[in-house]
Amino acid sequence: MPLTDALGRPLSSLRVSVTDRCNIRCRYCMPEDDYVWLPRASILTFEEIDRLVGVFCGLGLTKVRLTGGEPLLRQQLEHLVALLSRRPELEDLGLTTNGILLARSAERLRAAGLRRITVSLDTLRPDRFTGFTRSARHADVLAGIHAALTAGFASVKLNSVVIRGFNDDEIVDLLEFGRSRGVEVRFIEYMDVGGATQWSLEDVVSRREILATLGRRYQAIRPLAEYPRSSAPAERFALPDGTTFGIIASTTEPFCRTCDRGRLTADGMWLLCLYAEGGVDLREMLRSGAADQAIAARITEVWRERTDRGAEERVTAPRRGALYQLASLRADPHREMHTRGG
Ligand code: SAM
Ligand code: SF4
Ligand code: SF4
Repeated sequence: MPLTDALGRPLSSLRVSVTDRCNIRCRYCMPEDDYVWLPRASILTFEEIDRLVGVFCGLGLTKVRLTGGEPLLRQQLEHLVALLSRRPELEDLGLTTNGILLARSAERLRAAGLRRITVSLDTLRPDRFTGFTRSARHADVLAGIHAALTAGFASVKLNSVVIRGFNDDEIVDLLEFGRSRGVEVRFIEYMDVGGATQWSLEDVVSRREILATLGRRYQAIRPLAEYPRSSAPAERFALPDGTTFGIIASTTEPFCRTCDRGRLTADGMWLLCLYAEGGVDLREMLRSGAADQAIAARITEVWRERTDRGAEERVTAPRRGALYQLASLRADPHREMHTRGG
């Protein structure tokens, strides 16, 4: 019997954050000047991550996505990729990156067995990028995308968070950028996650608006039906010429009912939902000498009880605003988006 939660959802996907550090400061994720970082000694080694992933694989895990913070800040990440890609249960091993350091590591990651890569790119305009991320390295992101395309990954995608008054006039341009390179763009609604302390509903450009903007330009946009509905968060569409794109409507039309995703922070906290208040400390178990069977038993016990539907519950929250104020993020940095990995 495969392990399922209290709503019948399997545990098949894990987002593994390898660091809480980042080399840029996106306003929707890390708007502050200083942060409380996870203590270095608490960060899991690659061997520890691989061991935990192995335990999850024994319970039905088939998909891992490496993330962060910025995952490419972790030295020699390809060693972790090599360890994980040896696990036959993992049908899908991907990475989400801001792309800044990708040009120099794409080949190594591909050679180590990484199959899928997603680069976050919210604007094509260097000046906007600088204003929004406090980094002047837009050209490095574009070089990273180019390097990923030439390294021969099975899939290269772009993630674009759409924010009113920042980049909502670039929706068509971003899609055209992807189209000209054969890269699928996924438009993401601005989410009220931990870290997004400046979030407001007025700044969210909804799935409906994104589709209306694209519909004016491309007319006949076709939804791509996926039956049974896939557990992937993106809903996919095709333009008349076959170009595909996705929308992740986690803010206005979330779909938690098929969510098969857990999250592992860089210090080994296992979270059952992006919006979960707290998690299970698997590092403590690992480092106190627990056997794999004991860790698997704990994961099983916790997942069976899971009822999380965080984004759906946010839709009905009264006077919806930022999820956390700064003081509670400082009190527990595990609540930050850059710690739980997006
Ligand atoms: N640093 C890497 C990157 O940016 O791709 C990986 C970690 S980042 C937390 C993962 C994803 O979360 C990125 O695509 C980012 O755009 C998205 N993200 C962060 N904050 C968000 C927010 N408030 N709303 C929607 N998406 C967000
Ligand atoms: Fe931006 Fe990703 Fe860094 Fe957050 S973790 S600030 S989304 S690059
Ligand atoms: Fe899954 Fe939680 Fe996101 Fe809903 S909000 S899709 S339950 S991680």
